[in-house]
Amino acid sequence: MSSEVETKTGTCRYCGQRVFLEAAADDLSEHDLDMLATDKCMCPEAQSERRKRERKETLDKFVKKHFSPELSNLIHYVIKMVEEYDLVEFTCKLPDERNVKIWLDNDAYLRIKIKKTEDEELKI
Ligand SMILES: [Zn+2]
Repeated sequence: MSSEVETKTGTCRYCGQRVFLEAAADDLSEHDLDMLATDKCMCPEAQSERRKRERKETLDKFVKKHFSPELSNLIHYVIKMVEEYDLVEFTCKLPDERNVKIWLDNDAYLRIKIKKTEDEELKI
């Protein structure tokens, strides 16, 4: 048996660079290897795609954590409209008294604020 480690490579689908994939599993197809290569490549396009994907994952996780599945659909739709400037700002109030505000700030960052109104008040 050969002790030589087979070197796997994939091709970045943006810049076409060959990328070494030391930890890649043996049963990966060429397509999978190319995906991994694109994932590891440091060219601007690949990095930009990674940032976009990470942003989307963070956003999905946040929405899933704070909203019911039914509301999540609406919130995702609202986010899309805000990001495409069809809406400047969206606010709503949930049955559990949480206030939701979604907007783009001055630096074009998407902002989502969920505030629970917990004013301590007494009238006797
Ligand atoms: Zn690349």
